[in-house]
Amino acid sequence: MSAHGPAQFAPSAPLKLFNSLTRQLEAFEPVHPGEARVYSCGPTVYNYPHIGNMRAYVFADILGRTLSFKGLKLTHVINITDVGHLTDDADDGEDKMEKMAKAQAQSIWDIARHYTQAYWEDIKALNIRQPARWTIATEFVPQMIAFAQQIAPRHCYELDSGLYFDVSTVEDYGRLARAQTEEGEGRIEAVEGKRNAADFAIWRKTPPGEKRQMEWDSPWGKGAPGWHLECSVMSGEVLGFPFDIHTGGIDHREIHHPNEIAQNQAFCCTNGLDLPANSGARVWMHNNFLVERSGKMSKSSGEFLRLQLLIDKGYAPLAYRLMCLQAHYRSELEFSWDGLAAALTRLKRMLIAVGQLQERAGVGEVQPGPRFMPFLERFDAAVSDDLNTPVALTVFEEVLALKKVDASEKLAALSAMDAVLGLGLLALDRKSLRLRPKGVEIDEAEIEASLEARKAARAEKDFARSDALREELAAKGVEVMDGDPLGWEWKLA
Ligand code: AMP
Ligand code: ZN
Repeated sequence: MSAHGPAQFAPSAPLKLFNSLTRQLEAFEPVHPGEARVYSCGPTVYNYPHIGNMRAYVFADILGRTLSFKGLKLTHVINITDVGHLTDDADDGEDKMEKMAKAQAQSIWDIARHYTQAYWEDIKALNIRQPARWTIATEFVPQMIAFAQQIAPRHCYELDSGLYFDVSTVEDYGRLARAQTEEGEGRIEAVEGKRNAADFAIWRKTPPGEKRQMEWDSPWGKGAPGWHLECSVMSGEVLGFPFDIHTGGIDHREIHHPNEIAQNQAFCCTNGLDLPANSGARVWMHNNFLVERSGKMSKSSGEFLRLQLLIDKGYAPLAYRLMCLQAHYRSELEFSWDGLAAALTRLKRMLIAVGQLQERAGVGEVQPGPRFMPFLERFDAAVSDDLNTPVALTVFEEVLALKKVDASEKLAALSAMDAVLGLGLLALDRKSLRLRPKGVEIDEAEIEASLEARKAARAEKDFARSDALREELAAKGVEVMDGDPLGWEWKLA
C-alpha cells in the first residue's frame, strides 16, 4: 500500500460465461475453490496459423487474464496437434501433417517443429500469455492407448481401418452441436462398416503394406491416434476430470468437441449430460470466426492472412489484438485493412496518452484512489459479463480522458485494466508501432535528416525546397504528416 492509502481494487462482480453446452450465460463456479483450470484446443502445426486461428488464442488469453483478474489461480493448457488431424474434421481425407510433409519433402517432425515455432512467435507478438503447459500430442501416445483400452470394451468396435467409437453408447450424443445422432450435419459415411454415421476413429490403423512416418504399436495394430482422442486425453491427464473450461473456435462445436465429450462420458463412466461435469469440462466456450468479405478464411485461397503479412504491410501485431477486442468473442468479425488501420490509430492514441501521463507521474507504487473506483467497477462488470471487451475498452478510454486527476493514480487504474486487455500499453515503446513495411528501403536516420532539413527550409520560408524534400521522401515511401494531432510526423506508406 502506498502513501495514497486506499486499498487495492478487488473485483467483485459475479463472473458469467456463456456455456455452449446449455446455450446460456452461467455463473462461473470453479470445480476447485479459488482455482480455474482451462484447456484450449491448439493448432494443428502443418502450416502457419492465419489470423483467424489467432483470434481463438486472443480469446482464450482474455478468458485467462479475466480469471486471474478475478483472483483465481489459473492453470491453462494449450495443446499442439502434431499428429492425427485429417483434412476433414470427421473421418475423411488425409492426415494434414503427412500431406504437408509429402508436399514439402520434409519429415513430419521438421514440419511440426517449424510451424510450432512460427505459432509461438505469433503468440508472443500478440501479447498472449504463456499457458502453464503446452501439451504436444505425440508425447501422450501411451496415455491415449491406455484411455482407448479403458473405453473400448463398452463403447468401441474394431474395423479393418481402425478402432471406432460407437456414439449410440452414450446419452445425448451431439447435444453440444444440437445435431441428431443419426444424420449429423456434414457426416459422410466414408468408412464401410460404421454402425452410425457419426461414429469416429479413435485409433487409425496403418493400412497393410504401408508405412507411415508417424506410427505406434497398439493393441489394434500399428497406427496413430484419432484427433478427438488426443484432446480428451491431454485435458484429462493434465487438468483432471472434471475441469472448468474447454475452449475452441465455433467450428469445434460441431464435430470435434461433441466427440471429445462422448469419449469423456465413456471414460468417466457417466452418461447423461444433465450434470455439466459429465462432459469432462463444466463449461464449453467457443469464439466466433474472423471472416473475410469473400467468406471463410483459408490458408490456401487468395491472400494468406498471416500475422507476418500484417507486419510486412506495416501494421503492429497489437493493432490486430485490439481489433479482436473491439468485437465480442461470440460475434463474427469481418477482417478489413481499413478496420485494421483504424485499430492501429486507436492504439496509437492510447499509447500517446499513456506516454504523456507517464511523463507527469511520479515514481513509486501507487493504488488508484476513490475517484477511480466507479470506473474499475464498470470495467469489472464488463469483463465479468461474458468477457465484454468492447465495453471494457471504452471504460479504459474514459479513464484515459479524465482531467484533473492524479497522474500516478490514473496510471495505476489503467495498469489494472490493461492486465486484462493485455495491450501492454504501459511498457510499449512508441517506435514499436511504427513498423517498416517490407520493401521500404530507407533508414530512420535518413528520414530524420530530411525532416530536419525540411524544417530549416520552412523556417527560412523556402517552400520550394520544403516541397521538394517532401516529394523526395514520398518517392521513398515516406509520408510526411504535418500537424498530425498524434505527433507522429511521418509514416511509411
Ligand atoms: P486448427 O489449427 O485448424 O485446429 O485451428 C486452430 C483454432 O482456430 C481452432 O480453435 C479453430 O476453431 C480456430 N479457428 C479456425 N478458423 C478460425 C477463424 N476464421 N476465426 C476464428 N477462429 C478460427
Ligand atoms: Zn482439441
